[in-house]
Order: sequence, then C-alpha cells, then structure tokens
Amino acid sequence: MESTGILIAGGGAAGIMAALAASNRCRDIIIAEKMSQPGKKILATGNGKCNYTNYHQSEECYRGNNSKFAWDAIQKFGCKETVELFKSYGIVPYERDGYVYPLSGQALSVRDILERQLNNTTADIHTDEKVIKAQVHLNKKTGKQDGFIIETDKSRYYARKLIIATGGKAGPVHGSDGSGYKIAKSFGHSLVHPLPALTSCILDEKYLKEWAGARTKGTVRAYSGTGKLLYKDRGELQFVASGISGIPIFQVSRYISSELYKGGKPYLIIDIMPAYSIEEIIKELKRRRADPANSSAGDIFEGIINNRLAQALLKKCGIPVKSRASGITDSDIVKIARTIKEWHLIPRATGGFDKAQVTCGGVKTSEINAGTMESKLCKGLYFAGEIIDIDGICGGYNLQWAWTSGYTAGSSAGNSFRKQAY
Ligand SMILES: Cc1cc2nc3c(=O)[nH]c(=O)nc-3n(C[C@H](O)[C@H](O)[C@H](O)COP(=O)(O)OP(=O)(O)OC[C@H]3O[C@@H](n4cnc5c(N)ncnc54)[C@H](O)[C@@H]3O)c2cc1C
Repeated sequence: MESTGILIAGGGAAGIMAALAASNRCRDIIIAEKMSQPGKKILATGNGKCNYTNYHQSEECYRGNNSKFAWDAIQKFGCKETVELFKSYGIVPYERDGYVYPLSGQALSVRDILERQLNNTTADIHTDEKVIKAQVHLNKKTGKQDGFIIETDKSRYYARKLIIATGGKAGPVHGSDGSGYKIAKSFGHSLVHPLPALTSCILDEKYLKEWAGARTKGTVRAYSGTGKLLYKDRGELQFVASGISGIPIFQVSRYISSELYKGGKPYLIIDIMPAYSIEEIIKELKRRRADPANSSAGDIFEGIINNRLAQALLKKCGIPVKSRASGITDSDIVKIARTIKEWHLIPRATGGFDKAQVTCGGVKTSEINAGTMESKLCKGLYFAGEIIDIDGICGGYNLQWAWTSGYTAGSSAGNSFRKQAY
C-alpha cells in the first residue's frame, strides 16, 4: 500500500488547482484521475476557447441552496487572484464583455500550462485510475482517525488528507460520472439531488420541425407551475428540433430541472421582438397585410422575423403559411402579436447530463466549511469543484468556482501539513 500526504480524487480543473495550491506546503500528493489525461473537460470549455473566469462578479452569479457559501470563498480567492495566478503561469487574459479567455484562444493551452505547472511540482498524476471507495483510517495506538484508506481500480493508498474533486454528472464523456457522490455519501454526507443545468429545454410543441435552425435575439422568463417567476434572461434564443436552446435558455434550465424534479409544471414565456411593444407590432403587421406586394401570410413577416420562426408562429396561431395575407383578420393579427410578445412553452424535460454543461445540486454546503472546503463531518476530508452544491451562470463562473474551491481546499489541506511538520 502506497502512502501519501494528500490524495486528490479527480484531476479536472478543481483537482489540478487543489494540487497546485497544496504543493507549496506538502511534497507528497497523488492525483488519481480516471481518464487517460487530466483536465479533459477544460479542453471542451468555451467552445474550445476556455472562458476561465469573468470580471463581473457578484453573489447572484452563483447558485445553490446557499450561494453565500460560494461568495464567501470567492472573496478570498476570486477572479482577480485567478487571473494573476494564471498570468504568473504564462496564461495571458483576453477579455470580451467581462468574459475572460486565454489570449491564445485555445483551451488546450490552459490545460497544458496547468499540467506543466503540476509536473514541475512533486505531485504525481496517476491517470487511468478510478477511485472506487475511501474510508477513514484509525491509528492503532490512539484509536483516533489519522488518515484515509483509498481504493482505486488499480491500487490501495493510505493518505493523511483526501480531497474529492470528481466533478458532478454533467458531460460524462469528459470523465465526470457522478461516482464521487457515492464516496461523499459513504462519509455521511448528504446531497441536494444532482440535476442537469446550463442545458436546453425539451418541448413537445407541434411546430418544432418548422422552427428548427432559427435563431433570434429575445427574452425568456421561467415560471413555476404556480406562476412564480423563477428567473429571466435575454440574448440569442436558438430554436432546435427537440425544443429551445441558447444561452438565455441555459441560464433558466436549472430552475426548470428542479421544478420538474419536484413534480411541478414549469413554463417559459419568450418574447421574440423585445424592442417593440405589442401596439407597435400590431400596427406594423396591419401595414404589411395591406401592402399588395405581400401575397401570402408568410410574406408579412419577411425582414422582421426569421422565416422558420414565422412558419412556427403561424402554425401555433392556426394560420396556414400559404393562405392569403389579405385574408388575415384583425383578431388573427392580435393573436400573432401576443404570441410574438408572450409565446408560452411547456418544457417536458431539460437536456440530459450528456448535453448539460454543469450539474446543479451536489454535496450540501451546510456540511462543508466555506473557509477551508473541509468536511464538517469528517476531519481531513475536503471537497472541491462541481461536486459541491454550487453552480454558476454561463460566462466563466463554473470554472471560477472550480479554481476557487480547488485553491481553498488545496491550500487548507496543505497548510495543515506545515502545522503538523509533516
Ligand atoms: C461542454 C462544456 C463547456 C463548458 N464551458 C465552460 C466555460 O466556458 N466556462 C466555465 O466556467 N465553465 C464551463 N463549463 C463547466 C466547467 O467545465 C465545469 O464546471 C468544471 O470543469 C468543473 O470542474 P471540476 O474539476 O469540479 O469537475 P470536472 O472538470 O468534471 O473534473 C472532474 C474530474 O474527476 C475525474 N473523476 C470523476 N470520478 C472519478 C473517480 N471516481 N476517480 C478518479 N477520477 C474521477 C473526471 O474524469 C474528471 O477529470 C463547461 C462544461 C462543459 C461540459
């Protein structure tokens, strides 16, 4: 059985950062990573460009049962500290509307630089090695806990400290399969049920074939079945064959996942012409109806609404696309304008974990110390990253949470070695 100071389960963003932070204080660190390479998910972030943080930070950017938990940690090691640390590693920031990327425009460079920094420490990365279970180790003489026994699919380890950074369940193709939850539960931890977030909404509407491929700037409001506004956002809406997607939909999806999980009947209201009032739209549609150049119903939307979306709009309103423009009644126009401004959609589901960018839910923050990421239930056990019940909005906040919690867990675990003169 190999002995080590700190064993980190999971070599994703949080695990790598934990190892880097701990390596200043502790020489014996092992990362057990189940995939063939560390940080595989980092490569997929920001469409391959890695949006690794955001200059606009507030508590509202972080969600979970207690967003203050994340915010307290971010006050100590947040965006500024991350950018400075990354700069010291050679990752030069490039900023667009607050979103921060590496100047290289390549996620690969972030992952590779972090890996090289890690290789420059005494930490060992064991790839293709999955942590299966872990338990506390009791000192034979004192009968007190003095570490952990960790079993992987290849070996057995004794570690003084254990950091669980196995991610959530989102993007399993990159390694995160939810196996860390079982390990956390074996130490008595409880979970806020993990659900997909930052994903699309699946709809059953009869006009999906018509709108598939359309995109437009718009707003979305998500409501619970009882009519409570859950969240609203604006940006590019993307209309797809399975439902609706795009960043504003991603932002509301965690609330839809959670309402559906609770058995509720949440709904969305989208506005596809947010810059215009309903009166302005009615007036414009009437003017277009009267224009003899517009012969079919579909013609009157040309130049203002994407033609695929216009077909879906007409189908929803029960008007054949090929019917004569002059045959559209005043009440049809009011109905169309109302739909443009307040298009009701009922999600049947959200895109699954394989499509989601992040998991909402995870290990309860009430059972973790925000200042150290140490478990309140088991001394020497730490959590970092997406496994914790914190999820960020789109825009670099999830990686920021991984850096923040990884740094906090790694430096706290490492600090305790210095105190104990390990
Ligand atoms: C397509 C996509 C795009 C994204 N884009 C962005 C973005 O631009 N900006 C942003 O902020 N966030 C983005 N995210 C979210 C962000 O990538 C994650 O929130 C972040 O990577 C979480 O870091 P983590 O280390 O906690 O978990 P992960 O990155 O999931 O890492 C966990 C690691 O643990 C390993 N592991 C799991 N179980 C075990 C086990 N039992 N034993 C050993 N190893 C194990 C996994 O293989 C994995 O390498 C994106 C996510 C996806 C899927």
